[in-house]
Amino acid sequence: MAEKKKSDAAKPNGTKKPGKAPAVAGPSYPIHDHTYDVVVVGAGGAGLRATLGCAEAGLKTACVTKVFPTRSHTVAAQGGVAAALGNMGPDDWRWHMYDTVKGADWLGDQDAIEYLCRNAPAAVYEMEHYGVPFSRTEDGKIYQRPFGGMTTHYGEGPPAQRTCAAADRTGHAMLHTLYGQALRYSAEFFIEYFALDLLMDQDGACRGILALCLDDGSIHRFRAKKTILATGGYGRAYFSCTSAHTCTGDGNAMVLRAGLPLQDMEFVQFHPTGIYGAGVLITEGARGEGGYLTNAQGERFMERYAPHAKDLASRDVVSRSMTIEIREGRGHGADGDHIYLHLDHLDPKILAERLPGITESAKVFAGVDLRREPIPVLPTVHYNMGGIPTNYHGEVLTLKDGNPDTIVPGLMAIGEAACVSVHGANRLGSNSLIDLVVFGRASGLRCAETIERGSAHPELDPNVTERALARLDRFRYASGSTPTADLRLKMQKSMQAHCAVFRDGPVMAEGMKQISEIWKASDDIRVTDRSLIWNSDLVETLEYDNLIAQAAVTVTGAHNRKESRGAHAREDFPNRDDVDWMKHTLAWADYGSKVVRLDFRPVHTHTMTNEVKYIEPKARVY
Ligand SMILES: Cc1cc2nc3c(=O)[nH]c(=O)nc-3n(C[C@H](O)[C@H](O)[C@H](O)COP(=O)(O)OP(=O)(O)OC[C@H]3O[C@@H](n4cnc5c(N)ncnc54)[C@H](O)[C@@H]3O)c2cc1C
Repeated sequence: MAEKKKSDAAKPNGTKKPGKAPAVAGPSYPIHDHTYDVVVVGAGGAGLRATLGCAEAGLKTACVTKVFPTRSHTVAAQGGVAAALGNMGPDDWRWHMYDTVKGADWLGDQDAIEYLCRNAPAAVYEMEHYGVPFSRTEDGKIYQRPFGGMTTHYGEGPPAQRTCAAADRTGHAMLHTLYGQALRYSAEFFIEYFALDLLMDQDGACRGILALCLDDGSIHRFRAKKTILATGGYGRAYFSCTSAHTCTGDGNAMVLRAGLPLQDMEFVQFHPTGIYGAGVLITEGARGEGGYLTNAQGERFMERYAPHAKDLASRDVVSRSMTIEIREGRGHGADGDHIYLHLDHLDPKILAERLPGITESAKVFAGVDLRREPIPVLPTVHYNMGGIPTNYHGEVLTLKDGNPDTIVPGLMAIGEAACVSVHGANRLGSNSLIDLVVFGRASGLRCAETIERGSAHPELDPNVTERALARLDRFRYASGSTPTADLRLKMQKSMQAHCAVFRDGPVMAEGMKQISEIWKASDDIRVTDRSLIWNSDLVETLEYDNLIAQAAVTVTGAHNRKESRGAHAREDFPNRDDVDWMKHTLAWADYGSKVVRLDFRPVHTHTMTNEVKYIEPKARVY
């Protein structure tokens, strides 16, 4: 049996059905104990691919998720998944690697990028065989569209058609297929369970997680030989973002609370085309199919900023160009504060076939019939390049005794939560979906290789569980005077105003000050609902507490990085500085003093094999 109703698992004294665990009285809450080889936290594309792989390898696997698997944010991915299949013209995974290194503005680890691009075609064929309903070419091959920054012949040739698409609902198709596949194996799903914290022992090893069952309030302790965090990004630290309300980076925050660092958090991607006002995404695939941007003078301004790639330059470049147009008074609308995206010149048949989803989004969220009128758009927070540092097996890394590549025993991370780092300072569109399945698969393979089957779980110090419960209680009974929603809104507005597309020293210093004050004011938080049954007040507070630490780490890292690279564009330091800054930021957060500490980790300048050479840094122009 694969999927299990949460209420089953929560009932004490259950029979031997999977996941039924009798409650043992803990000091403050009865605790339901579970033991697994692997616990995957998250059921987005990354979590499901890892769950599937571990279960397929015969490991006893649990997948814990706060939302129903097919509601994970991956479902919203539209444009497609990148792999050099060469279905629409010549292509080569080495060209994909070159584009990814360049897109990342030389902050990506080249061994990991080689792993990604080399394994991408097999990962797409695997999904095809699992049943993803890809759009097709005339002769029945997987349809591929052009996407920003994807080129041929190491940037010298025409744009590559590399992004495999299922109309404009690729993430939806992938997520549903992966969930179906995961159910074929004996993985057990704990659905609508909220992971509270990692269980870290005295030796710094991760022994599992503690989770709250949202529908009956029972507490579950999952012991695991490996814990894989696949908890997605933290777009909700900002006011306007394309990500779901559930994208609060809970895994990232658990890592911070475990005293471990996050990497490159200052790199936040703004997608050029969020619908003005609503933030809802219009996929880059729209420009891939021939869409273009104009300013209030009707000018196709991207021709000035990126003469070669134009509207298909990479995302950071397009977002900055749009911001400059608006700033210089050439925006549309009464306030001159947005840009138009035109699809009205395209054949309605193409729109109906390839972009049906966004045709609907434009109608619902902008009141626009995109077959006839342009869509008002604005750069909107979309993706977090930063996250939990890992190697390309998905093993979490930390800086210990001078070694920045020290593996944290028992802990892994994949997907948007992780920073492998393949996206470096700027992710190319369609490179995230491929990252999910390639590294989701890699983590499963690593677990199969490293987990000793049948070995006993070591004793766990009860204090470890108590610490996590103490945090839960602190918020459950919080009786201060500031509602969570007020603090959250202040944080989101401050991040949007001080740490956005363009950044400047004094503005970010003010942002750091504000975020620090908001973080400190969180001690006065108020939660009104004390129950444990579907307590959304409590869950939102736990999520806010997760977000605020990540906001602090993000703005502190951004203020500290005195150069411009990828998505991090500083007005006071407009150039990339490879001598001083071609290095990853590592950031630790002290929850007690609410202070962020920074250090660095060298970028991997070696490749994985000798078949490709290190790609030397050069100016990044499109
Ligand atoms: C609108 C939109 C469109 C996009 N389009 C594309 C595209 O076309 N191509 C592309 O490559 N990329 C795209 N991206 C980016 C890409 O979709 C995401 O980066 C990716 O889907 C993230 O997947 P994930 O598996 O890491 O996490 P998610 O899909 O975000 O899933 C996170 C999972 O973690 C679980 N979780 C989180 N916290 C907890 C907790 N405390 N306890 C238990 N469970 C928890 C959630 O329940 C969920 O199952 C898009 C992103 C957005 C927002």
